[in-house]
Amino acid sequence: MSTRSAILGFPRMGANRELKRLVESFWSDNITESTLLEGIRELRKDHWVLQKELGLNIIPSNDFSLYDHVLDHAFMVGAIPKRYRDVFIKDENELPSTLEGDALSTYFAMARGYQKFNEGSDAPAIDLPAMEMKKWFDTNYHFIVPEFEPTQQFKLTSTKFLEEYKQAKSLGIETRPVFIGPVSLLLLGKASSNAQVGFAPIQLLDRLLPVYEEIVRLLAEAGASSLQFDESFLVMDLDPKLAQSYLTAYSRLSKVAEGSIKIQLTTYFGDITPNLSFIFPNLPISGLHIDLVRAPQQFDTILNAVAKHPTLQLSIGVIDGRNIWKRDLRAAFDIVSKAITTLGADRVIIASSCSLLHTPHSLAAEVELAPEIKDWLAFSVEKIKELVLLAKAANDGIDSIQAELEANQVSIQNRRTSPKIHNPVVQERLKGVTRDMMRRSPFSERKVKQHERLKLPRFPTTTIGSFPQTAEVRKARAAFRSGQLSKEQYDEFIKDEIKKCIRFQEECGIDVLVHGEFERTDMVEYFGEHMDGYVFTKNGWVQSYGSRCVKPPIIYGDIHLPKPITVDITKYAQLLTKKPLKGMLTGPVTMLQWSFVRDDQPRKLTTQQLALAIRDEVTNLETAGISIIQIDEPALREGLPLRRGEWQEYLEWAVDWSVFQYHGIRKSLVTIYSTQSSYLYYPFSFLLASSPVADTTQIHTHMCYSDFQDIIGAISRMDADVITIENSRSDLKFLHAESFAYPNEIGPGIYDIHSPRIPQQDEMKHRLKEMLRYLKREDTWVNPDCGLKTRQWKEVELALKNMTEVARSCRENV
Ligand code: GLN
Ligand code: ZN
Repeated sequence: MSTRSAILGFPRMGANRELKRLVESFWSDNITESTLLEGIRELRKDHWVLQKELGLNIIPSNDFSLYDHVLDHAFMVGAIPKRYRDVFIKDENELPSTLEGDALSTYFAMARGYQKFNEGSDAPAIDLPAMEMKKWFDTNYHFIVPEFEPTQQFKLTSTKFLEEYKQAKSLGIETRPVFIGPVSLLLLGKASSNAQVGFAPIQLLDRLLPVYEEIVRLLAEAGASSLQFDESFLVMDLDPKLAQSYLTAYSRLSKVAEGSIKIQLTTYFGDITPNLSFIFPNLPISGLHIDLVRAPQQFDTILNAVAKHPTLQLSIGVIDGRNIWKRDLRAAFDIVSKAITTLGADRVIIASSCSLLHTPHSLAAEVELAPEIKDWLAFSVEKIKELVLLAKAANDGIDSIQAELEANQVSIQNRRTSPKIHNPVVQERLKGVTRDMMRRSPFSERKVKQHERLKLPRFPTTTIGSFPQTAEVRKARAAFRSGQLSKEQYDEFIKDEIKKCIRFQEECGIDVLVHGEFERTDMVEYFGEHMDGYVFTKNGWVQSYGSRCVKPPIIYGDIHLPKPITVDITKYAQLLTKKPLKGMLTGPVTMLQWSFVRDDQPRKLTTQQLALAIRDEVTNLETAGISIIQIDEPALREGLPLRRGEWQEYLEWAVDWSVFQYHGIRKSLVTIYSTQSSYLYYPFSFLLASSPVADTTQIHTHMCYSDFQDIIGAISRMDADVITIENSRSDLKFLHAESFAYPNEIGPGIYDIHSPRIPQQDEMKHRLKEMLRYLKREDTWVNPDCGLKTRQWKEVELALKNMTEVARSCRENV
């Protein structure tokens, strides 16, 4: 045997987002179920054939999904909440074991919700919301959160894994089926709402395992020789008691496998050494995969541990599955060689660090990228080529890839030294950053001056920034992009939209106005397009959730703002009204989180550069006479490291030592970080971006999409004069938090903008009164939850009129 190459999963969307087209056409009744199913069989086939032709040794199956692989697993083990069963499943025993017919309807209802209207009635006769969605570890992929009942009965409900395995086999392609391991599946889930306190899904492990045993049995019968079990939680802080769960699970599974089938345990996104005792010496597995891109520091420890178990294989994740850079093959080969020297060739597998789900399909479509920059990149297809080359070098000697290696080294060298990447002006400026640049006067002083200048009423009303992006707005933009509309015509169109938006807000009686963000498709893309150091792809899509994909821009070089971005448009809007108009910017952490970032410098440095660029724009707006500037940080929470012990580093710069003690985080927990896992310091970067202004300029920030209870202390240190924060779906959770004490002004969202429902005055009044149990009156703002971009104008009109009415009546009565 020899050293083999592997990936942990391939992107599902297809080279041209075929999967998106297929499922969306099916949802809108444009294609039949059999066309859909035929389409996905074709797509899977294409992907396997492609991997085979590229020369990849270990090709995954069951990594494909119609919507989400976590949902697939919940479905596979029969964790289908009763509310969905009741609607779709007449007879449990008649449910097809593949995803079709009633099974498919149930599956999509769990994913997307389901509404049925009876003729002539506006109110739905059946109204099932979708299951909860959450972010997959620290990625931007969202999964459906499985629900487990205390009395949960598990049953093998879908044999999709078998169908996929057999399909590939019939094409002459042997695959390694991929599963979420049983422990992680339970840990990913939540207790159903009727569960008693104290119930945790992991208690169901014994009941779940027979299903997994059956899976192993079925695949062994079908001829599979190895299975991949992703136990991603092994990189997290784990309760030591869970060690027993892992042991139970893998002992039982390995017994079924009985040597005929190899069980490969995969981990990624972090370091497993803190949980080493979960694996060594007892866990009966045939192979272990570790992520050496995110956590290279674990290599030696793991290598030594694996070496002691003569039959254990080690899969080394040396090609980054989360980012898009070409790998330095020589450096990667050094790691490979070291593993082979210690373990022998046939015990080493060369792999992607994690599934390639998080990288785009292939570079082939990027015909418009500057060739110099394109030469620095590798998407999924190119990453597989790198893996194949490394395996060849391992087996046939490094000389066997000499030509490729030379070309690779030229690209790596070019990137390292390119003047496109390195901007001396930016680097000089960074050196000059001082603490003073991040300091403003105490809030109490700023507050008095701002109130004097702005003269806002009590319970000031505002919105988060965007107004409906209607079909006309999108049409005009498309026409402008295709050249049908001139720049002047397009600008005129945008100005008209702004004018209407301002008129509406005035009519409504809103106190702090916005221009509506009609010129922006996306809050990161819009700013990135105007900064040096960013590049955009044509087809670099990655799945975000279900059929939704995002196209993260790429930060390849030093970030610099050559000229003002928002000043003209903001000034134009301000001239249309006497009320204060709020300038709208995207914050440095969000810019970073939603982009592919450089791997040649720590993330914190890139964030600092972004912060300086935003800082310039803040100054530009202030100079233009804008009195309120909002810097959005919706992605703030997701930048937190997976392990609590690492939060400190992320928070340290701007948060003083007392706060750590307050959060109970001990300095001794901090270990040495690689550049990859060295995270940014968000309050620091926010302060750098927001602090160049006078006391009289009011800085706002906005956050959404997550729970904030555990980081309120750090958010306070960002010291925005006003924070507007999503809260209506989380049920005032963060206000209830024991530690809650936001020192400045705050507007917790008073209604949920994610739903088309119009919030009524009574409920908003009730909500405001609830909020006032925790907040000071003079510090409380009234605003929606988030931007209004996805709503219809008629919904926005009614909702905001109700909202301003509530603020008005509360001014008098509360
Ligand atoms: N200002 C942005 C908007 O209103 C904020 C978006 C967000 O929080 N995701 O659309
Ligand atoms: Zn938001």
